[in-house]
Amino acid sequence: MIGGSTPMYVMHSLNLGQGSKPAGRIEWRRILRYFAPYWRQEVFILSCILFTSVLGQLPPLFTKWIIDGAIAGKNLHQLLLDVGGMVGAALLASAIGGWQGYLNAFVGEGIMRDMRDALVTHLHSMPLSFFTSTKTGEIMNRVSNDVDAVDNVVTGTLVTLATNVAIIATTIIAIFLLDWRLALLSMAVVPLMVIPLAPVGRKMYAIRKRTREQRDVIESLLQETLSLSGITLVKSFVRESTEAKRFHEAGTDLMKLEIRLALVGRWFIALIGALVIIGPAIVWLGGGWLAIRSGLGVGTIVAFVAYLGRLYGPASALIGVQVQLVSAFAVFERIFDYLDMAPESPQRPNAIDLGVARGDIVFEDVRFGYSADRLALDGVSFHARPGELVAFVGPSGAGKTTIMQLLPRFYDPQGGRVVMDGYDVRDLTLGSLRRNIGIVTQETYLFHASIAENLRYGGAEATDAELLAACKAANIYDLVASLPEGLGTIVGERGHKLSGGERQRIAIARVLLKNPRVLILDEATSSLDSTSERLIKEALVPLMQDRTSLVVAHRLSTVLRADVINVVDGGRIVECGTHGELLKEKGLYASLFAAQFFVAEELSDGALV
Ligand code: ATP
Repeated sequence: MIGGSTPMYVMHSLNLGQGSKPAGRIEWRRILRYFAPYWRQEVFILSCILFTSVLGQLPPLFTKWIIDGAIAGKNLHQLLLDVGGMVGAALLASAIGGWQGYLNAFVGEGIMRDMRDALVTHLHSMPLSFFTSTKTGEIMNRVSNDVDAVDNVVTGTLVTLATNVAIIATTIIAIFLLDWRLALLSMAVVPLMVIPLAPVGRKMYAIRKRTREQRDVIESLLQETLSLSGITLVKSFVRESTEAKRFHEAGTDLMKLEIRLALVGRWFIALIGALVIIGPAIVWLGGGWLAIRSGLGVGTIVAFVAYLGRLYGPASALIGVQVQLVSAFAVFERIFDYLDMAPESPQRPNAIDLGVARGDIVFEDVRFGYSADRLALDGVSFHARPGELVAFVGPSGAGKTTIMQLLPRFYDPQGGRVVMDGYDVRDLTLGSLRRNIGIVTQETYLFHASIAENLRYGGAEATDAELLAACKAANIYDLVASLPEGLGTIVGERGHKLSGGERQRIAIARVLLKNPRVLILDEATSSLDSTSERLIKEALVPLMQDRTSLVVAHRLSTVLRADVINVVDGGRIVECGTHGELLKEKGLYASLFAAQFFVAEELSDGALV
């Protein structure tokens, strides 16, 4: 068993989708924090809403004045004034509405951008274990679709909420001022609208959460099968119809959930529809009685019924808003779940800035497992002195790549220490540690951008002349020069418009531009043709010069030049020495050498040293 704390991989997979807070508790404060930077616009929006809702109270009043005043008193002048007032109020309200629409969009889009920024910045700080245990599609879904859903809440739901609250408040004031008896009567049906809110909201919240999860599944399927590597696999195994079926099934599950979501609380909506008719009927009954008994003006009753439209309409909209809001919190919760996950190997307080390293590397009895029950490294110790080339060879799955991952702290060991220039790497700032390390992996990753942009990932400030010099050193200059667009050539998705060997040499040029003190090189296992092999071999010479190089070696030329060869097997270093010494030992290295290097290099070099 591994000592020490729970491995990060395990902690992250436990944390996924759960978050640290009790499920279902809405973190209002946290949500409001995203609204804070836009308070000026929000105050303006609220003022617009309040002003237009007051303007909205005027037409029923004008109606009353027209019926009870102008028409009853046969006063044409007053009629014109009242109608003019009605039209004017409507025009002013729509002009303010236009301006408010712009502000809504500004706030909604701004909040979305801020949330996306926060998510992406946090994701950059997540450890590799998170990315190996989470589907890319799920991550994409949260950053794009979930954040888009937040926009609907901000620009749609919250504005509807504020608008309707303002309309209801001003309408209630208006009807009580108009006639308090009728006002009380018309409020009688309101509790019927409010009581079912909580259960409907809860149900919606639960289904909304499941629909978002199902969208994760769909996005992951798309990512997996439509990426260049994925689609190549699908085509080569002729699995198009299976994949289409899988996609169809996932889509059907989503469809079912969305239908359930649309149906939640439909009886409740129907009840509200009925109340919208029943309410005015009650007012006509009470108002009619008052008109007959105590001479209440007909204009007042007509105005009252018009006001009721302004009361029930927004009230039912508000109920919809409440339900939408509660289910939208499922989306906020998903975003916060990600933001709450612990970032990678926290930097210690007072971490030391390494500056330019000497490149003295020591592994002291390092033990590490990706999961709690299985060790990948079991007591690895070695010393790489500045400028040395230290090679690691061993059977597949022995732990060679894992050793390389621990130096830049992609993972931290559970036991022992990794030391750079005398410092435990956990005492150094992550930035200063990684700036000193250049990595060339088996799987060369290039961005879908120009060669120049890819190279400048290694040196943002590098001039074109410096880029070309790096290309020369990495043996890729001839290719770049032969391309019509030279350094401006776009390399395609993941660099797939270039051959494997060309991609590797570009990656080598990229690290040359970074000019790190320590080089980690995971040589490609796939055999390249002899020209390509020679070009890479030559490119590696300047790459390893004057640097401490840790190399997972698959090439004879590398092991022959190595100062020390560590033979890794079952997570341990089982043999250590130079090529000559190890051959004499006639152990694992000797047999690996015979099986692996001899055959491969005999073909490409023609002879052995
Ligand atoms: P190869 O020469 O085939 O690349 P290697 O010697 O580099 O092999 P590693 O990649 O270091 O081997 O793997 C060591 C062990 O750790 C293997 O058993 C592997 O299955 C396991 N392993 C590697 N990466 C992970 C990971 N991200 N999560 C869990 N286990 C892993």
